Amino acid sequence: MVAAFPDKDIHHKRAHTRFKCPKCRAEFDSRIPRGFWVKTFFFWLPVKRYICYRCNRTKYFLGK
Ligand SMILES: [Zn+2]
Repeated sequence: MVAAFPDKDIHHKRAHTRFKCPKCRAEFDSRIPRGFWVKTFFFWLPVKRYICYRCNRTKYFLGK
């Protein structure tokens, strides 16, 4: 593979998620299905839901 944009490529692979749990500062690394109300009312939003297994928090983030 020719790395035409090496920096971008590396960043893309290393950035599992760029979101961190506000409580324990661990990186959210698991995407879980969105809740029912989000699917129903905010299906048009680029919302993703992550879970932190350390403190059992789920959080929604806007982003593609
Ligand atoms: Zn956490």
